[in-house]
Amino acid sequence: MIRLYVDAELKEAARFAPREDQARYLLAVMRQSVGDELLCFNGRDGEWRCRITAASKRGCELEAVERTREQTPASDLELVIALVKRTRLETIIEKAAELGCGRVRLAVTRRTNADHTRVDRLSAIAVEASEQTGRLDVPEIAPPEKLERLIADWPEGRTLIFCDEAGEAAPLLEAAAGRLGPASILIGPEGGFSPEERAGLRAHPAAVAVSLGPRILRADTAAIAALALWQAAAGDWRN
Ligand code: SAH
Repeated sequence: MIRLYVDAELKEAARFAPREDQARYLLAVMRQSVGDELLCFNGRDGEWRCRITAASKRGCELEAVERTREQTPASDLELVIALVKRTRLETIIEKAAELGCGRVRLAVTRRTNADHTRVDRLSAIAVEASEQTGRLDVPEIAPPEKLERLIADWPEGRTLIFCDEAGEAAPLLEAAAGRLGPASILIGPEGGFSPEERAGLRAHPAAVAVSLGPRILRADTAAIAALALWQAAAGDWRN
């Protein structure tokens, strides 16, 4: 069944209009019409079976019929990714949504060039991935921040899993096993972290340096591998 992420409040008999592009997708692309059903979620009210109650050239109206799933708490797994080339970044956002990240933070490091980032476009990718993957929420994409700032303001109690290809580090699987509490996985840019950045990260009290094996991975591969290992060892793949 088609799934849409909507803004509207979802409750029994609530009627609402999806966005223009969503209406066009439903009616013109998916050839749906009055009486057809789909699933909607908004990140707050669970997932609802909804019915198309009116359709015209200008849009359509939906009615919430029945709740199919209760809202579950958002994931506290976070990805902190240094800005990389647009196409790789888009892949990373899509995969982070599929793999159950609650939030993605974009970091500007010494070796990143950040002039291309469009958070609205990345958010749209996160929405689409969440719709198709069956999630009940959409990961937030936070606007780019300087790595230094991000590290200086690091929230207490959140573990920073620093993926470090250069130097002594425990295998990620080992570092993750049985770990409790919120965590963020940090992946560097294509050129890697600068020596000062690495030193700062290594010295940070919340940081745990981890390895993803003997080969140097591209940032997108590293992000996917790290999130999968984390979900398997400490996250929601265990449920
Ligand atoms: N410094 C490297 C490239 C960095 S790869 C170079 O230019 O030679 C991009 C990021 O992926 C790294 O900053 C790191 O966070 C992560 N990464 C890649 N391979 C890794 C590995 N084997 N172990 C841990 N992290 C890795």
